[in-house]
Amino acid sequence: MTFQPQIIAGNWKMNLTVSQGLVFVDRLLAVLKGRELSRKLILAPNFTSLQPLATACRGSVIEIAAQNCSEHEAGAFTGETSIAMLKDAGAAYVLIGHSERRHIFGESDALLAAKLKVVITEGLVPILCVGETLEQRLQGDAVTVVTRQLTEALAGFSGSQLLVAYEPVWAIGTGETATPDDARQMHAEIRKFLRAEFTWGDEVPILYGGSAKPGNAAELLAQPEVNGLLVGGAALDPESFLQIAEV
Ligand code: PEP
Repeated sequence: MTFQPQIIAGNWKMNLTVSQGLVFVDRLLAVLKGRELSRKLILAPNFTSLQPLATACRGSVIEIAAQNCSEHEAGAFTGETSIAMLKDAGAAYVLIGHSERRHIFGESDALLAAKLKVVITEGLVPILCVGETLEQRLQGDAVTVVTRQLTEALAGFSGSQLLVAYEPVWAIGTGETATPDDARQMHAEIRKFLRAEFTWGDEVPILYGGSAKPGNAAELLAQPEVNGLLVGGAALDPESFLQIAEV
């Protein structure tokens, strides 16, 4: 299924300060002025940049996502950031279960399910990230792993809006990209899961992430069920981010 518009989301991870982020957005908005862009843009800066970027992007084609959130609504959780805070700062989306959260910070599917619950309560739109490791792929377990991640994180999910990002762990920040065929096959599996799970499963945008760049974006975006891209490294430069958005 083809969604209009496709979505190009940039995950800045722990890069770009507030002032660097504002320079990026100024540049992007200046180039986009007066241009028709057929794709929707999302930027995911770190927490400190959410509010200034949301303010700078208000009324433009760029929406803002947070990279993470607490599973708690409020309280004595030093260092954590609640969904209500993200929403108040101007975020419309939040990444849940990015592979760096899963693999560096040990976030489990059960924790992600708890995070999804508070996201829904507060009315932000989650971007649930799933993906297998290289070892799991080589063992032929990629589809089983991704299906299990979806099943466990979405257990009891009662929201009506969701994005899924398929990000094979071995392709993130490595320069290795899934072949268009790998992406097509996994996106078809994810769509099958979403259709079986939700009456609105057909409407869920499924993004591909993993070393997407200007040189491979068009081919990836041409695959059925690839409804957009989640971009890390190539989203740190406004020119390459724009090139991807305009391929
Ligand atoms: C990401 O961080 O979600 C990502 C896909 O990174 P990169 O594009 O650098 O592989």
